[in-house]
Amino acid sequence: MTAEVQAHVRGSAALFDRARAVIPGGVNSPVRAFNAVGGTPRFMVNGLGAYLWDADDNRYVDLVSSWGPMILGHAHPTVVDAVREAAVNGLSFGTPTAGEIDLAEEIIRRVDPVRQVRLVNSGTEATMSAIRLARGFTGRKRIVKFAGCYHGHVDALLAEAGSGLATLGLPTTPGVTGAQAEDTLVLPYNDLAAVRAAFAEHGPSIAAVITEAAAGNMGAVAPVPGFNAGLREITREHGALLIMDEVMTGFRVSAAGWYGLDQVDGDLYTFGKVMSGGLPAAAFGGRADVMAALAPAGPVYQAGTLSGNPVAVAAGLATLRAADENVYRALDANANRLGALLTSTLDKAGVPHQVQFAGNLVSVFFTEDPVVDYAGAKAAQTWRFPPFFHAMLDHGVYPPPSAFEAWFVSAALDDAAFEQIAAALPPAAEAAAAAKEPA
Ligand code: PLP
Repeated sequence: MTAEVQAHVRGSAALFDRARAVIPGGVNSPVRAFNAVGGTPRFMVNGLGAYLWDADDNRYVDLVSSWGPMILGHAHPTVVDAVREAAVNGLSFGTPTAGEIDLAEEIIRRVDPVRQVRLVNSGTEATMSAIRLARGFTGRKRIVKFAGCYHGHVDALLAEAGSGLATLGLPTTPGVTGAQAEDTLVLPYNDLAAVRAAFAEHGPSIAAVITEAAAGNMGAVAPVPGFNAGLREITREHGALLIMDEVMTGFRVSAAGWYGLDQVDGDLYTFGKVMSGGLPAAAFGGRADVMAALAPAGPVYQAGTLSGNPVAVAAGLATLRAADENVYRALDANANRLGALLTSTLDKAGVPHQVQFAGNLVSVFFTEDPVVDYAGAKAAQTWRFPPFFHAMLDHGVYPPPSAFEAWFVSAALDDAAFEQIAAALPPAAEAAAAAKEPA
């Protein structure tokens, strides 16, 4: 095919063929590849409000929301205007800009324990930097994380992580050496006894506990009552820092993220997704004395050519400023409406299931028992998910292409979108009921 012909080849199947020739697996982030559900990933062409359109002109109700950021729906006019205005003034200066202060102030205003903020480009950078800072501040080396919690593709944290690693069934990944992971202690989520035991054995060498403020990367698994508060108590007792990873929950599950729901104060927080408005931006922040250890104020190095990029900052700021009480009310109502539809349809089809919530994150586990940790998530009948997913897709609804991911609603879902979801669910539930366990 000539380049000219190639440029006109549309359709997801043709695009995926082209993509696989030049991009590993045809995608720039593994979970987009549909490996867990089979079939061809949909190449999206545009998004508006609650809907996405693919390269074959199919329309979908979007229940992925770009994996979290698009709480207002796609191409929200206020955000698009802010981006346009920032872009015409220059794309990047490599100098400080006023918008960075506005965004830092907006984050600090919403999340009480956060007193200083550093902007970065991705959630991965935020958690990587927070861990370096915790080690630099405490002078200790060990990090505690929880199985099934994903904190980005940071070498030291790719041990029993959820998200794409759960989807692909990778316990960890080649390319991460034993040395990089050996200072990471991986404990079962929601198990304070395991945390106490780890601190009894290794307390003086533990720099920090990092946890998803509510787990969303093994499916939606909320912390059991007292879990986050217990982490706060144990880390404080042992002089370790508590890093609350709110990349997924931050500014989505409430105006102040998960902190707004349980008020457990971390020493450091990581943010991304919603505060980026859909452009590459993320942040970490926290206690003033800890953040003061960061260069150039302090000795712990951290930097970025495009950090605080003015266009990304404009998108994030416009999103947060538009995310008022009505938006959070709509997100919660939409999550509840989706959850109720899932429950009633799967009940009717007689499929074993748990519809779980972590705030307004929703997910479906094909199992009889409530899922509280990664072992429970992995024990679910995940083989029911691919036919369920494809039936939804065939009926114009786009859920995450993995049994281990949370579903993200937007405030833009309206009655018409829910009618489409309600029509897609019965055939999807039938497909899940008819699925056969692989031999
Ligand atoms: N932390 C959590 C809780 C996440 O869910 C993610 C991504 O899904 C990350 C960190 C990494 O963020 P990014 O993909 O922007 O690097």
